[in-house]
Amino acid sequence: MKNKYDVIVVGGGHAGTEASLASSRMGLSTLLVTLKKDTIGYTSCNPSIGGTGKGQLVKEVDALGGEMGKAADSSCIQYRQLNSSKGYAARSSRMQIDRRAYNDYILKVVTHQKNLDILEAEVMEVIVKNAEAKGVKTALGEKIEAKAVILTTGTFMNGIIHVGLEHESGGRIGERASIGLSDNLRELGLKVGSLKTGTPARLDGKTIDFSVLEEQGSDFPIIPFSFGTKEVTFPQKPCYLTRTNKNTHEIIRGGLDRSPLYTGKIKSTGVRYCPSIEDKVMRFSERDSHHIFLEPEGLNTDEYYPNGISTSLPIDVQERMLHSIKGLESVKMNKPAYGIEYDYVDPTELIATLETKKVSGLFLAGQINGTTGYEEAAALGLVAGINAARKVKKETPIILDRSQAYIGVLIDDLVTKGTLEPYRMFTSRVEYRILIREDNADTRLSSLGYDLGLISKERLEKAKEKLTKVAKERSRIKSITASPGGAIDNVLKEKGESVLQQGISLENILKRSGISYGDIKPLDKDGLDLTYYEKVQLEVDIKYAGYIEREKAKVKKLHELERVRIPEDFNYDGIPGLSNEVKEKLKNFKPLNLGQASRISGITPAAISILMVRLKSGKK
Ligand code: FAD
Repeated sequence: MKNKYDVIVVGGGHAGTEASLASSRMGLSTLLVTLKKDTIGYTSCNPSIGGTGKGQLVKEVDALGGEMGKAADSSCIQYRQLNSSKGYAARSSRMQIDRRAYNDYILKVVTHQKNLDILEAEVMEVIVKNAEAKGVKTALGEKIEAKAVILTTGTFMNGIIHVGLEHESGGRIGERASIGLSDNLRELGLKVGSLKTGTPARLDGKTIDFSVLEEQGSDFPIIPFSFGTKEVTFPQKPCYLTRTNKNTHEIIRGGLDRSPLYTGKIKSTGVRYCPSIEDKVMRFSERDSHHIFLEPEGLNTDEYYPNGISTSLPIDVQERMLHSIKGLESVKMNKPAYGIEYDYVDPTELIATLETKKVSGLFLAGQINGTTGYEEAAALGLVAGINAARKVKKETPIILDRSQAYIGVLIDDLVTKGTLEPYRMFTSRVEYRILIREDNADTRLSSLGYDLGLISKERLEKAKEKLTKVAKERSRIKSITASPGGAIDNVLKEKGESVLQQGISLENILKRSGISYGDIKPLDKDGLDLTYYEKVQLEVDIKYAGYIEREKAKVKKLHELERVRIPEDFNYDGIPGLSNEVKEKLKNFKPLNLGQASRISGITPAAISILMVRLKSGKK
C-alpha cells in the first residue's frame, strides 16, 4: 500500500464505489478507504434499484460510465416499469435485486479495477493545510496523502441505532459507527446536522403463508438498466402483496409509549416520502390499511423484505404487529426493524462540482450530503469522482444543468436550496421532463461519458446510431400516406379512434394519443426494426413535438442566465440596489452563474436584473 495517492475516497457504499471507479478509470491513482471491505456496494435497506425518478438517475449514471445499472442488470430478480400507464416522461424502471449477487458484482469490479487500491480502515480526519485537503488520517494514526479527498460516509457518521427505547452506536445494524469525523468537519467550519431514516425487519420466508397472498411477477420484456446490457438473464422471483389492518394499527398505537419517535428520543427529521409505519398510522389516521410488498432478498435465500413497514418500535411490538398481518401470522423475524440517526453536512456548503466551499479539494457525495437512496448516492458519487479527478488534472469541472439531466436537478436542488430532511429524487422535481427521460439518457449523456474516458467508443456509436435510425424512420413514415377504408381503419376502430376521412401520413396517425408505433407496424412491411427505446424516442418526437419546442424555448432562456458567470471574488457589497438580505445570501451561497443565483430562495427577479447589468458592465 502506498501512502500517496491522487484521490482518496472514504466509504465504499454506492457513492464511494462510483466515485472511486470514475477517478481510477480517468487514470488517477485512487485509494478507497472503507470500514469493511466485504460490504463494498452493500444495499443497506431495500433489495431494489430504481423507482420513480430514481430509474432516471440509474440510466444517467450508466450513460456516464457508472456501474450501478450493470450491477442491477446482473442481479435482477424482478423488473417493473412504474407509471407505465402515464406518459413517457413519468416512466421509471425498478428492479428487485438479489442482494448478494449485486454486492458480489460491485465488489468484483472494484477489486479488479486498475489504479484503484482498497484499504480497510476508519478515517478520523481530513488533513487540511491552508484550506486545501491534503489527505486523511486513520483511526490507527496512519497518514495518507492525496491531492483530493471525497467523503461518502452514508449513515455512519455518529450513527445511533434505535429499537424501541434501546439505542446503541452503529452505522448499520451489525456495523460500527464512524465517530470523530463529523467533529473534524465541524472544526473545518462545515455546517453539520443530523437526519434519521429507518428500515423494516427481515422475515423468514419459510414461515410466511404465501398461499393466501397476491403474487406479483415481473413485467416483460425486461428492459435492462444499462445501455450496454443486451439481455437480463438472471432468473426471476415474484413479490407478494399483503396489508396492515385495524388490529395492526391498534397494536402500533399501543406501542407508541415505547417509540423513540413518539417519546422524543429521536430528534432528527426522517424521510418524508418513506415514513415509518407508526408515522403512517398516526399521520393518516383515517386509513385502516397500508400496502406491504414482501420482496425477496435473493434467489438462494428465504429471506423477505417487507417494504412499507419500516419502524423503530420495540421488538415485542414489532412481532405482534407482524403476526396481525395476513400471511404473516406465524412469521419469524430474522432481524428486527430499526431507525438510525446520523450526521450529514448541509449541502449548501458545496458548489455544484460537489467540492466544499471552505476546503479546496474536499468533495462530499452520497447520504452525507443530506440525500437518501442508493441511486442519489451513486449519481453524486460519480460526479464527485469525475470532478475530483478533473481538479487534480487541472481540467475544468463538469456541471450538468437542470435541462441536461436528473443528476443536474439533484445537485442544483441540494447546493442552492439545501435540505433539512433526507432528499429523495422524484420526476416532479424536474422542470424539463419531456426532454430528459429514462429512455434517452444515452443520447443525452454518452458523448460526455466518452469524452471523460468512462464509456467505450462502441457505446457512443450505438447512441448516435439510435438518433440516426429514429430520424430515418420518422421521415420514412412521414412520406407514407394511409387511405380511408384501408387496413388502417380497422386498427383505428379497434383502438377506439375515429376512422380516416381522407388520406393522411403514418406520422400524423401516430400523433393520435391512442395509437402506438406497434399498432401501425404490422401494416407497414418496410418499417425499420426498432428497439424498445427507439420506438419510444420516435413516438415522443412525434406526439410531443409541440411540448418539446416549448420546453426547448424555456431551456434557451435558462441557458442565457447560466451563461452569465459570476466570478468567485465578485463583490456583492459594492452593488447599489441590492438589499442586505440578498447580499448576505449571495455571499453565503457563492452562486457560479446568474441561473443558479435566480434559484436561491429569496433572490428576486429584480435582484437578478441588477446583477445582470453589473456583470455585463464588467465591473467586479
Ligand atoms: P452507504 O451506502 O451508507 O456507505 C457508506 C460507506 O462508508 C460504508 O461502506 C462505510 O463502511 C463507509 N464509512 C463510513 N464512515 C467511514 C469512515 N470514517 N472511514 C472509512 N469508511 C467509512 N434509502 C432509501 O432510498 N430509502 C430508505 O427507506 C432507506 N432506508 C434506510 C434505512 C437504513 C437503516 C439505512 C442504514 C439506510 C437506508 N437508506 C434508505 C439509505 C441508503 O442505504 C443510502 O441512501 C445509501 O446506501 C447511501 O449510500 P452512500 O454511498 O452515501 O452510503
